[in-house]
Formats: sequence, C-alpha cells, structure tokens
Amino acid sequence: MTQQLEPMPTDWRRALAVVAHPDDLEYGCAAAVAGWTDEGREVTYLLASRGEAGIDTIAPEECAPLREREQRASAAAVGVAAVEFLDHRDGVIEYGTALRRDIAAAIRRHRPELLITLNHRDTWGGVAWNTPDHRAVGRATLDAAGDAGNRWIFPELGEQGLEPWDGVRWVAVAGTDRPTHAVDATPGFERSVRSLLAHRTYIEVLTDEDPEAYCRTFLAGTTEAAAERFGGRPAVTFEVFAR
Ligand SMILES: [Zn+2]
Repeated sequence: MTQQLEPMPTDWRRALAVVAHPDDLEYGCAAAVAGWTDEGREVTYLLASRGEAGIDTIAPEECAPLREREQRASAAAVGVAAVEFLDHRDGVIEYGTALRRDIAAAIRRHRPELLITLNHRDTWGGVAWNTPDHRAVGRATLDAAGDAGNRWIFPELGEQGLEPWDGVRWVAVAGTDRPTHAVDATPGFERSVRSLLAHRTYIEVLTDEDPEAYCRTFLAGTTEAAAERFGGRPAVTFEVFAR
C-alpha cells in the first residue's frame, strides 16, 4: 500500500495564508479552506502583491484593482472575509528582511496557530521551474514564523504596538512535491471551483476552454491524484513543518 498522508492538525482556531499572487490559493488549496471555515475556524489571506503583472493584455495600474476584486470574491466563496495586500511588486518580489518583516507584522496582528503558504522550492516536482515570487514568499513565510515570535529581530514592530507572537505551531506548504499531510477535499470541492472561477478575467485570458469546465477539471485532477495516499478520498495536500 502506498505510504499514507497524515490528516492535518485540527487543534487550532486561526490560520493565516500567505502567498505571492491572487489565484495562488485557489489553484489547489481553497477546498481545504472551505472545510476549515465550515468548522468555525478563522482564516485570513495575505497577498504579497496584487498580481498586477499577471495578464499580458491589461496594464498593471488597471489590472491591480481588478485582480484585487476577483481575489476578494474568491476568498468570500470559501468563507474568508479578511484579505490583505502587502503591495510588493508583482514579478519582482524580493526575498529579504523587508518581506520577512511585513509577514512577521501580519503574523503578530492575526496571531495564527497555522500558517499556510505555497511551494517555496526551485521547481514544481522537479519538472517545471517555479517563479521567483513563489520562492521568495514561501521562504519568507517559513522564516517569518520564527521572526514573529522574537522581539529583537524586528524591534520596530514592537514600537508599533505589535507584540511578539510565538504561537505559530505549523507552517503548511501547499503545492509541494513532498506532502506529509492532507485534508479531505470533498466537502469544500464545489466552493473551491467557485473560488477559482472568481478569477475569471485571468482564466479567460489563460484558456480557450469554458472557464467553469477548466476550473473543475483542474481541481478534480489534483485532488483525485492525492486520493491513493489518503484512504481513497480526494484531498488537498500539504508539507507540514512543525515548530
Ligand atoms: Zn502565483
């Protein structure tokens, strides 16, 4: 029998999901989020950019507010009301102390037990090269879990009234080729399709397929691929780093 994935921890109340772009959470993670908000857990989204460089035919100044609107709608589809943007520049997000500090500040504001982020490695499964933004934000999020709890790393945050929060117990990386944990995707699946579909402008440029069929096929494909490692149930997978 294939090595089975562990169920995700459930003894937490607040999660903060930190990604580079609008749509990063919807390509795979949103079904898990829908299940969590159903259970009364609080999930907040933090986006490093507004994805303003994501659509070739729409200039950044027009694209940013459009993608922000679509991201808020897609969060609402899975029960997430709080969506924040850090305004790093899409495409050239730099890994470094500025990004770590911004994420640490958000962790201190929201005090999550669970942090979610997207694949921080060089490639997607050794096959496709990852983008610099995903690598930067994924790595900075893994690092900021510790930064948020140390009052001396970014003392200026304390001066702004943001007290250290050392309560992050896990960082869960979505889109990983080394998953350790999973969440049953079935209860949240339909809403995850709605959630991805809310990025309609982006998807209509991306594919000639019917947008809803595209979203459904993509999400069914990834969640069903994980089923053999999760007792036959379609699943959203994560690589969990415990702290
Ligand atoms: Zn992205």
